[in-house]
Amino acid sequence: MKGQQIEAQLLINNKLVLASDNATFDLHSPHTGEVVAKIPEATLDDVESAVAAAQNAFPAWASLSPAQRGAPLKKIADMIMAEKDELARLDAIAMGRPVSTYFDATYAATHFNYYAEASYPQGHTSLNTPGFLNMSLRQPFGVVAIIIPWNAPLVFFSKKVAPAVAAGNCVVVKSSEKAPLSSWKLAQWIEKCGFPPGVINVLSGHGQTSGNALAMHMKVRALSFTGSTRTGRAIQIASAKSNLKKVVFELGGKSPAIIFEDADLEQAVKETENSINWNSGQTCMANSRIYVAESIKGKFIEAFAKLAGSRKMGDPTDSNVNHGPQADKVQHEAVKRYIALGKESGGEVIDTGAKANGAANANGDSKSLTVHPVIFSNIPETSPLVKEEIFGPVVVINTFKTEDEAIQKANDTEFGLYAALYTKDLERAIRVGKKLESGMVGINCTSPTGCWDLPFGGWKGSGTGRESLLESMDHYLEVKSLYVRCPGIGV
Ligand code: NAD
Repeated sequence: MKGQQIEAQLLINNKLVLASDNATFDLHSPHTGEVVAKIPEATLDDVESAVAAAQNAFPAWASLSPAQRGAPLKKIADMIMAEKDELARLDAIAMGRPVSTYFDATYAATHFNYYAEASYPQGHTSLNTPGFLNMSLRQPFGVVAIIIPWNAPLVFFSKKVAPAVAAGNCVVVKSSEKAPLSSWKLAQWIEKCGFPPGVINVLSGHGQTSGNALAMHMKVRALSFTGSTRTGRAIQIASAKSNLKKVVFELGGKSPAIIFEDADLEQAVKETENSINWNSGQTCMANSRIYVAESIKGKFIEAFAKLAGSRKMGDPTDSNVNHGPQADKVQHEAVKRYIALGKESGGEVIDTGAKANGAANANGDSKSLTVHPVIFSNIPETSPLVKEEIFGPVVVINTFKTEDEAIQKANDTEFGLYAALYTKDLERAIRVGKKLESGMVGINCTSPTGCWDLPFGGWKGSGTGRESLLESMDHYLEVKSLYVRCPGIGV
């Protein structure tokens, strides 16, 4: 299989097809630079066909019982687990995610299995209007579009597709142009698992074409999106300009971690270093800003740098590697621009791979788009390094003197996805936790630590929805009130 070029397809109405005009784009491995796949660039006609297929499939799919809709969901969960190594390899060659860090298949199978069993949406009843038995119904939208990013594609595919189709909707998924292979793999199993034609359609291509066409489509009634805040804004505008489709957003972050003087330093260092450098810093909730009590700054940074410097860089398909390349040239160049900016800004810097990071590519002589972790400290709070999402293994470690100062700095951002704090003082932990403007707060833990059955999502510019095993299905159901006149029912 190694070295063999993949020729991917779209899935429309259970048919694996090329783009209507046969156009493709090349997908390069960020480690070797080789073309690993030819990916169809879905056209506007393909979007039309996929939406029409979903619309046609909807009445029959929505009228099945939850158990009938659940049967193919269970099958796809089984397929995902049986093929988890291949899925890990596909994401590794597409966007550089180390196979050693691949939890995505387990996550996806859990979500498909859960919604296979748990799709019994219910409304309310009311006897509060004399002479009436009133009720509310929760019903699927019809056609739902799902647009996902590249940093954990299978995670986003499953957490959105599973609840949407379990609720009775039919979907058109658009994968990311940077990591379309695991979605394409799942597309090949849809018919085998027993999904009727049109229930799940999978497109690949760039956002400006197929993504925008889905966001503008008059027949798409809801759209669930995970990606950057910039694209979220564009989709919001497209929704407003078309049919005001419901939109659900999980967007970017610039997450702070606060380390108080009494924190368990070893634990705080270990977890915050993992948070920012896991997936080479390409995680929405990575703690890219760390505020450490001034008195422990030296010890903290020394231990942090030691850990960051011991990452095992290299081929993401090698199970001994825990730090792969950035996803593609665009990401790589953006991260390196921020590093150069930080180095000019007069703060302190520890570059764990100074020579390699300074080369045309990180490994100097190889084609890999690796970036070694870089730690900046004493950077002005107004710097783009502190304000903007870098999406790379670059952290800013600044200090604070008082609790209020730490909270003020942590909250001084347009993002609000995940905040963390480390302290042994329980009352302070809760007090500060309450004041942090963030959808998720870790106390003596940091991202990616979370909880699959509690709301996941951001405040402020980090999003509008909350996803979780218990909540996601609500995004894919409309509510209707039914007023039933029953004069004879008495009191
Ligand atoms: P992106 O916004 O560039 O792309 C995401 C998806 O949107 C891709 O499929 C892309 O093709 C599509 N797209 C681009 N322009 C579009 C348009 N005009 N209309 C419709 N679709 C369009 O994001 P990315 O680079 O793929 O992912 C990284 C971003 O995602 C980061 O900002 C990260 O923080 C965020 N993210 C957020 C979460 C979360 O749960 N909050 C999780 C993962 C990633």
